[in-house]
Amino acid sequence: MTTSPLTGGPQLPQQRRIVTEIPGPRAKAFQARRLNAVASGVGSTLPIEVVAAGGGVIVDSDGNSLIDLGSGIAVVNVGNAASAVANAVAQQAAAFTHTCFMITPYAGYVEVCEQLNRLTPGNHDKRSALFNSGAEAVENAVKIARVATGRSAVVVVDHAYHGRTNLTMALTAKSMPYKAGFGPFAPEVYRVPMAYPYRWSTGAESCGPEAAAAAMDHIRTEIGADRVAAMIMEPILGEGGFIVPGESYLPEMVKFCKDNGILFVADEIQTGFGRTGKWFACEHENIVPDLVTTAKGIAGGLPLAAVTGRAEIMNSVHAGGLGGTYGGNPVVCAAALAAINMIETEGLVERSAQLGEILQSRLDEMASQDPGIGDVRGRGLMQAMELVHPGTNKPDPDRTKAVIAATHAKGVVTLSAGTYGNVVRFLPPLVIGEDLLNEGLDIVAEALAATR
Ligand SMILES: *Cc1c(COP(=O)(O)O)cnc(C)c1O
Repeated sequence: MTTSPLTGGPQLPQQRRIVTEIPGPRAKAFQARRLNAVASGVGSTLPIEVVAAGGGVIVDSDGNSLIDLGSGIAVVNVGNAASAVANAVAQQAAAFTHTCFMITPYAGYVEVCEQLNRLTPGNHDKRSALFNSGAEAVENAVKIARVATGRSAVVVVDHAYHGRTNLTMALTAKSMPYKAGFGPFAPEVYRVPMAYPYRWSTGAESCGPEAAAAAMDHIRTEIGADRVAAMIMEPILGEGGFIVPGESYLPEMVKFCKDNGILFVADEIQTGFGRTGKWFACEHENIVPDLVTTAKGIAGGLPLAAVTGRAEIMNSVHAGGLGGTYGGNPVVCAAALAAINMIETEGLVERSAQLGEILQSRLDEMASQDPGIGDVRGRGLMQAMELVHPGTNKPDPDRTKAVIAATHAKGVVTLSAGTYGNVVRFLPPLVIGEDLLNEGLDIVAEALAATR
């Protein structure tokens, strides 16, 4: 565990190496060029110019080697440019790059569906359909749930994130930057209370049952349970701030859905593929969703997404009702099969659980010395800390920005999250070396000390 199992493509030295300020002179020139070409609404957290990445590092055009604690937002779980993925992509690209599965099908698509049917929670008969992005998968889960139930309403929770298309903006909670000015949004979307233990007024203990009761009451009295096609929820909230639902909330909501003919859709787009120390985060709560959406960690960095679910639900849609030009592109499917194989053969799910313990204990230790860290939470290699004004739970987004900026300046890529912009989240590649992870966390601790 001390060295990275670098199946990573470019055999990059697994080290932090800072040779210029960050961003350096080349990065600054690149940023100026980018601003002249790329729409300013598309942001970048750390405006360097990437030239290579692998294992747990990202190398920029100034020659700096940064520790990656973000994985491109939980995407490169198997590491960047993993050679198994890169080779599979090259081989498939040389054979054929696209025929459109809806016109002339090929094996890779079917194999990815077989793998998803096998790996996702539950032993029931399943079917899958492939798409290009997480948002597209969520949209299709709603399409499928509406046809399968003959109902229109969709229930989501406070602090949810499900994407940036029109319907998924409606499903997403946070206004700025995701929704502001982009409405009107799709109708028939209803939001219920989420069990957010750190911020639940009567405390973390009572959070799960009380939030579930409030959510069920809202569905019964204001929406009408018999009008609801689906409840969609991330089993651990991602963009919302890595909120692990208060105990019993998820199982109670899943049972309520079952009792009322509502399909429970687990959005595992950020939590899937070993990220939380299990294949899928639902497994931590022993819940079996009717449908699962996946994307991000599925294909080693290539764009692929899926809906997987009970065969009778998935097959309720009329022929031709699901699809898309590129969905399940052959090159991307080859990447997914290589990434899934790598997660299994290299034991990356177990590795995520093991490294996650180190990550969490180090964050706990930082919190014990810093009254501005209100909460540390997460599972596996999906962990975060919520920053507040000491002695209160008032969010501290300014310090959060300062902490993240300080880590960037020292060559560690960290990301923020949270409805209040006050969460620092950690999503290292599952293949990161233990030493590199610890070095990255040393820098985080320094950044915390410097911003106290
Ligand atoms: C990222 C994300 C999405 C959207 O995926 P895209 O590929 O960006 O469209 C949806 N749900 C969750 C939970 C996500 O983290």
